[in-house]
Amino acid sequence: MHSVEHIGIAVKSLATSVPLFENLLNCLCYKTEQVESEQVNTAFFRTGDTKIELLESTGETGPIATFLEKRGEGIHHIAFEVENIREEMQRLTLLGFTVLNEIPKKGADNKLVCFLHPKTTNGVLVELCQEIK
Ligand code: ZN
Repeated sequence: MHSVEHIGIAVKSLATSVPLFENLLNCLCYKTEQVESEQVNTAFFRTGDTKIELLESTGETGPIATFLEKRGEGIHHIAFEVENIREEMQRLTLLGFTVLNEIPKKGADNKLVCFLHPKTTNGVLVELCQEIK
């Protein structure tokens, strides 16, 4: 069983959305980080056992820019914590899920990450993540 590590939300501007979520959650953003491989700036909030990750595109292209253009702001992905990401990617591939990257990538917040194609997960972009120890 996987726990929800975080929920990713695509936003147009961290400058606007960080204060909005600080007000909403009544807590301060504890970390911002640029992830060059994904062309995003991220901002994190703790919400009990899980986190909210705000995602702002760093350019005109890239996954978040594309998402905002197609769908607008909103929930972008759900991330599940796994013990061994390579084993889990293999297990899910054998079950017919499509992994979007063959090799785990370095994501935000000191994690190895892999995304599953939403067409194989009922339209939900799923991120698997494993803490780098
Ligand atoms: Zn994420």
